[in-house]
Amino acid sequence: MAEEEVKQGSENSYGAEEELKPYLVTDPKEMSARIDALRAQGKRIGLVPTMGALHLGHLSLAIASKNECDVTVVSDFVNPTQFAPNEDYDKYPRTLDADLTLLTHIKADYVFAPSPADMYPSGFEANVHVGGVSKVLEGAFRPTHFDGVCTVVLKLFNLVRADVAYFGQKDYQQVCVVRKMVRDLNVPVEIAMKPIIRDRDGVALSSRNQYLSDDERRQARVLNKSLEKAKELIQGGERDSEVVYDAMRQIIETAPSAKIDYLHIGDPESLREMERIAGNVVVLEAVRVGATRLIDNCLIER
Ligand code: AMP
Repeated sequence: MAEEEVKQGSENSYGAEEELKPYLVTDPKEMSARIDALRAQGKRIGLVPTMGALHLGHLSLAIASKNECDVTVVSDFVNPTQFAPNEDYDKYPRTLDADLTLLTHIKADYVFAPSPADMYPSGFEANVHVGGVSKVLEGAFRPTHFDGVCTVVLKLFNLVRADVAYFGQKDYQQVCVVRKMVRDLNVPVEIAMKPIIRDRDGVALSSRNQYLSDDERRQARVLNKSLEKAKELIQGGERDSEVVYDAMRQIIETAPSAKIDYLHIGDPESLREMERIAGNVVVLEAVRVGATRLIDNCLIER
């Protein structure tokens, strides 16, 4: 049913085909029913979970889904359960109209933007906790964060029943945690991780960058610069993680408003920290620039 509604174009007065907005669904039951119809037609479905305030990083995931699937569903939902009470849930940017315009340009098929009350009706008590890789790094600094992420992502997987779900390397640990959830709970979905999209000055795109003042935005360059340094050292043969951390710290400390939450060199799958660097590694960092907490990472394959 939905296919025809979505795909029928119309012509404007110049005879050119007008761009069609993606079909907006807010009701979880309607989303599920539309997915039933699409699956019955044998469509390959791609899901891109987001919290909205879309930028090119999110769009790169939707474009990957467009290229690899028949139908692309982008979820646009600021998930309250992954924010701690002292975090930025209330001030997190909500820009659904602008998001729909961006997704029109890349011809996404559906936007699923439910209300918090529809996702978490009164009496909701479930919680998905995967343990292991969810307890370190972001999990240590934000102890309830990954439970909230896993709970909402599993709900989205159950509603959208995608063949492939697209996540950004930007949130590297999140991908590890979601992959573990999918493996441990036999969720029938493939998890695809796509590269980090950066601004011209190397800063990773993030919805939270808009909290930064101009000066803080310039200072935020130290995150990627420190990762570039780590890559240069490790690819040059450095094996002692402490030496790499020192070099990263020196760069980050050139930014007066930057405070390091963690620097971490670990195994790309388990994230287990390596004192001696061997084989492929992921370098992860969380740095507060002023009041804004930024994360970044790079994979180093040798
Ligand atoms: P968010 O809306 O921040 O929850 O992000 C939704 C998805 O977009 C997650 O899978 C993120 O990892 C991904 N994402 C966010 N920023 C970027 C970026 N700069 N490059 C690639 N993917 C990103």
